[in-house]
Amino acid sequence: MQCPACSRPLKEVTAGDIQVDVCHGGCGGIWFDDGELDQFDEQSEIAAEVLLKEENGATVKTDGKSLRHCPRCENEVLVRQFFDPKNQVEINQCWKCCGIWLDRGELATIRSQFKTATDRAKAINEYADQCMDQHLAAIKQAGKMEMREYNKETSTRFKSFLYGFKQLLGKE
Ligand SMILES: [Zn+2]
Ligand SMILES: [Zn+2]
Repeated sequence: MQCPACSRPLKEVTAGDIQVDVCHGGCGGIWFDDGELDQFDEQSEIAAEVLLKEENGATVKTDGKSLRHCPRCENEVLVRQFFDPKNQVEINQCWKCCGIWLDRGELATIRSQFKTATDRAKAINEYADQCMDQHLAAIKQAGKMEMREYNKETSTRFKSFLYGFKQLLGKE
């Protein structure tokens, strides 16, 4: 797989009991396939440490605002969106395969942003509500799409992604 940010080959790295794809020695970005975040669970702290080290070993600077393509899906552009209600951290997500790309430093920022596990959980829940509202508003605005296209599967996958992120953020 190719790095969505600097086009180098991604390297599979074991972090805790999960495997993620990292731009090792490149831009230090991290790719999470759908569901990989879910697996962080109890080892989240160890996993996060491994990944933060990868970010620190980065040598290539990338433009955080440039368009990224999904390393898994052909011709699929990653959607840049705010992760938190305060709109301080942006993440890239593929709405097709639900994979997530974090640029270098984003993981550290996310982890430093919330002081307690309760704060994090609260922020994530608020963010989930906000995203759902935005998503529904966008669909309504599009007009051509039927509401039923916003089906249960989409909703479940999205919740699973947020749950995974909660795990990634770790425990105090
Ligand atoms: Zn890269
Ligand atoms: Zn994808």
